[in-house]
Amino acid sequence: MDISNPSDVTEITPSARIDTSRHGWRAKCLQRLIRMDLPVPRSHAISGDGVQAIAAGQAVPIDAFKGLFDSRDGLVGVRPSAVTPEWGGPGTVLNVGINDRIHARLAARIGPENADAIYLNFVQSYAIHIARLDPDMFAQEGKGALADALRCYCDEMDEEFPQDPYLQLAGVLRSMARAWEGPTARLLRQAKGAPADAPLGLVVQEMALAMGPGLSGSGSIQFIDSVTGTPRVTGRFRGQHHGGAVGRDAETLYLTRDQRGPSLEEVAPGIFADLVRFGVAARERLREEMQIEFVVTEGRISIIDAVRVQRSSRASVRIAVALARDGVIPEDEAVMRVEPRALTDLLHHQVDPRAPRDLITRGINASPGAATGRIVFNAATAQASASRGEPCVLVRRETVPEDIRGMHASVAVLTERGGTTSHAAVIARGLGLPCIVGASGLVIDSRRRTMQAGGRTFREGEEITIDGTSGEVLAGAATLLEPALDDAFTQLLEWADAAGGIGVRANADTPEDARTARNFSAQGIGLCRTEHMFFDADRLPAMREMIFADTPEDRRLSLERILPMQRKDFTALFEIMAGLPVTIRLFDPPLHEFLPHDREGLRELAESLDLPLSDVTRRVDALSEFNPMLGMRGVRLGITVPEIYDMQARAIFEATVEASRKGDPVVPEIMIPLVSAMREVELVKNRVDAVAAAVRNERHSSFTYRLGVMVETPRAALRAGDIAAHSAFLSFGTNDLTQMTYGLSRDDAGRFMGTYVGQGVYAEDPFHVLDRDGVGELLLTGAQRARQQSPGITISVCGEHGGNPESIGFCHEAGFDYVSCSPFRVPVARLAAAQSAI
Ligand code: PEP
Ligand code: MG
Repeated sequence: MDISNPSDVTEITPSARIDTSRHGWRAKCLQRLIRMDLPVPRSHAISGDGVQAIAAGQAVPIDAFKGLFDSRDGLVGVRPSAVTPEWGGPGTVLNVGINDRIHARLAARIGPENADAIYLNFVQSYAIHIARLDPDMFAQEGKGALADALRCYCDEMDEEFPQDPYLQLAGVLRSMARAWEGPTARLLRQAKGAPADAPLGLVVQEMALAMGPGLSGSGSIQFIDSVTGTPRVTGRFRGQHHGGAVGRDAETLYLTRDQRGPSLEEVAPGIFADLVRFGVAARERLREEMQIEFVVTEGRISIIDAVRVQRSSRASVRIAVALARDGVIPEDEAVMRVEPRALTDLLHHQVDPRAPRDLITRGINASPGAATGRIVFNAATAQASASRGEPCVLVRRETVPEDIRGMHASVAVLTERGGTTSHAAVIARGLGLPCIVGASGLVIDSRRRTMQAGGRTFREGEEITIDGTSGEVLAGAATLLEPALDDAFTQLLEWADAAGGIGVRANADTPEDARTARNFSAQGIGLCRTEHMFFDADRLPAMREMIFADTPEDRRLSLERILPMQRKDFTALFEIMAGLPVTIRLFDPPLHEFLPHDREGLRELAESLDLPLSDVTRRVDALSEFNPMLGMRGVRLGITVPEIYDMQARAIFEATVEASRKGDPVVPEIMIPLVSAMREVELVKNRVDAVAAAVRNERHSSFTYRLGVMVETPRAALRAGDIAAHSAFLSFGTNDLTQMTYGLSRDDAGRFMGTYVGQGVYAEDPFHVLDRDGVGELLLTGAQRARQQSPGITISVCGEHGGNPESIGFCHEAGFDYVSCSPFRVPVARLAAAQSAI
């Protein structure tokens, strides 16, 4: 047989040149196990180039495998080896090389039924995956099935089942190489972040047979709990006793002593102790928690594979922190090992154990956390529901790769079938979605769009709660508890902070937000949206009175009623933040948002203002705008109705005096929204300065303050040089800036965003991930012009992007001082900030 390039095949020895980038993670991992002197069967690695050449039709370099089938049993297995395990790969093919001669030899050693089972298993997989014959023709099991399968193969192919092991191997390698090039495999790995042309390595390994006289069998062992991340030996061992037939005398043993049945620890304490020893060594050498796959052949252990332990987000934090605390990896590496988004999962809600639970059914608790949503039965409905902003729970018999987008759009997933490693479970854990699988009490009728459980019927659109931590499905919206944070979480974030990186503040409007921000160690408040303070029932009437005031004097009087309330708000924020910076944004929204829109509301308002309904209606109409988000809001309102900003400035300064008297000195930061021209800043600054001077005078105080500008319009970014001349800081409001740069309504874009992202018009929703190419260029231009004018100016981002890890990376690269995000995203942002810096 021809050799395409023998250098593409390398026997894995301690000194062989095996690279993860060429041969994949599995080949590299096996080499490390071999270097540790673990009993790994002889293995060969085929490089990504080699696999690609095979897929393209070049001859398989069979000569490089010479002697491979000379071992005692003469069989090999082939496993995929992508660059990282997450990228997957085609299914493993075992028992390659079996033919009539080896079958006869095996029958003598391990019994005819075992030998038949091995041969049948390979004929089936060869016929289906390599010869591409109809699987139904090879579905038979049991007595006579092998002879039938061999006959059937011969009838369909017009030739005997191949007896040459090298020919079999060539067929297997080619089919695995081509499977990797197929569209399903490509889509799946792209969803995991792999490039479309990611290479696949293959590993060809001598088989260690899990059968024979004496204790034989196969299993896997891990030393950590996949859900909690705490130390615990788990796994399984399927033993074949004394040459018993497959499926007849096979017995699954627990690994450690267990009341429910016999365990490997009791049956074979020596083997168990060796496995534990190998596990400890592998953790140190591979610097990772590993799941070890092993085979016992007549009392001898072979280590055939080791894979990174599957883990929940919570476990990923515990594992990384434990590895660093044990000195296996440096602290910085622990920080790098945790996906920032995983922290969100630790912050997950749980169903309140004290609250009533309307239990529908139970399943396997496949991914922790709890969420409530409306039932949907397919991915398309899930996406439609998400685009309407309605949380949904995807309910499926089982999920398939095509459901990934639907899972992304759901708050939780429930499946009738499957186990902890089923597709739904693995993907949900990866996404941090609460998930229950194997809820076998469910009867799903996807045509009628109903599900039945416990004698009750639920229709699409009805609300249920998924408790992924306990595995319980509950009717309706259960009471959820705020998430708990553990010691590993705190430790990881301490290490993250020590790594430096861009600062992280919180967007906090209320004392409660501010407390959460402090709990998560935010370095200050980067945005307090003051308008939220005007909607409270005790302020709305004064606000409406102010809007209806006929003269500046009347307006001032109405605002005077709001002043003490605002002062109280700001004093509370300053006190909670204890000297950390607090940035308060002056009033931003259009005034009509504070007015009623229906007739009943208008009538009530007329009554409370003691005005004729017609007057009220006329005034409300006069305030309405065609494009309110581009209308009289932000600084435009501040300049047109300056009394509002005057009142707010006074409340801020009086609160500053009050809070500074009680605690740490406060230097408030006042931020002007929606600026597009330098003159706007000058006008506001003059009035705020005047208010500051008045308060200093009245209170005999000498506080200072910083005035800054929110850069939310493209013009403000372009004119940042002028604007910086009057500003101590600039904060990019990337929500409005994205809206205005794209000309895309942030409130309406959801309707077609799915289609746009689906068709690749936008790589991502630009309101979630900062658009580096367009909006990003405005940020860079603005920052550069501002710094040219005022080198010491503080620059930040306070739009939603401030909590998005990719966008934080951009802000770090751009040299910004901090990002500000909602309080619950602060931990994610701190970790992402550290990762950009390391
Ligand atoms: C922004 O526009 O980015 C911003 C932070 O302000 P808001 O979301 O309140 O408009
Ligand atoms: Mg804005």
